[in-house]
Amino acid sequence: MIELKNIHKSYASRDKVVEALAGVSLDIAQGEIFGIIGRSGAGKSTLIRMLNLLERPTSGSVLLHGQDITKISEAALRTLRHKIGMVFQHFNLLTSRTVLQNVAFPLRLAGMDKQARTERALALLELVGLQDHAYKYPRQLSGGQQQRVGIARALANEPELLLCDEATSALDPETTQSILNLVLDINRRFGITVVLITHSMDVIRSVCDRVAIIDNGRIAESGEVVEVFLHP
Ligand code: ADP
Ligand code: ADP
Repeated sequence: MIELKNIHKSYASRDKVVEALAGVSLDIAQGEIFGIIGRSGAGKSTLIRMLNLLERPTSGSVLLHGQDITKISEAALRTLRHKIGMVFQHFNLLTSRTVLQNVAFPLRLAGMDKQARTERALALLELVGLQDHAYKYPRQLSGGQQQRVGIARALANEPELLLCDEATSALDPETTQSILNLVLDINRRFGITVVLITHSMDVIRSVCDRVAIIDNGRIAESGEVVEVFLHP
């Protein structure tokens, strides 16, 4: 579904050039849960910005359903981005809006009328188990509940790909497991491809089909989770 071919990404940082990605190739299949694990500074965030089409690589190609998206216009990229849902470590909810408004926000940006987006946002809140919290504000919810709102919002535009960026890193182990179960449930029910970026081996073991270990801007190892973690 999404394929990275020999991606290099460099940043000019003061007087030197930092190579954040140094020849990364990855092939993420439709419908799988793919984990990317690595230490701080390994290049995970940079890799995410390649996958969510927010930045272009310095060299190499990003193929989405076989189409090289490094060559297409900004306008075309913006449309493709609607098909990618993002879930963040610190939830990134709008604090002065209700839970319902947060979930409806991407629908509003997409131009859906008010009644339709309210109905859809309520259905999404039901999906994540928060239908009774629609008119609360994010600060009235627990961290796990706020992340459920984040997931509902990420699903608003029916994405093909759900990108979870350290989505459970701010949560306790029990809440982490319930969020991972929700992600797994969404993956199985809707066939949405999931890419899960984390620094936690437990997260990878718990839900991922395949994993890539990123180290110093390179893929150190990748494959089925059972295989990669059987041979340390
Ligand atoms: P991770 O998310 O795994 O912590 P990053 O992708 O953020 O890693 O960073 C990888 C390397 O690239 C680091 O050395 C970081 O300092 C550098 N880097 C990332 N983004 C930028 C940027 N916008 N400008 C300069 N250097 C960057
Ligand atoms: P219903 O609307 O009959 O309850 P579902 O239980 O299948 O339907 O879906 C629950 C919610 O999930 C609805 O808001 C629905 O629009 C949404 N949904 C269904 N399919 C997808 C999908 N592929 N991606 C994202 N959200 C979806």
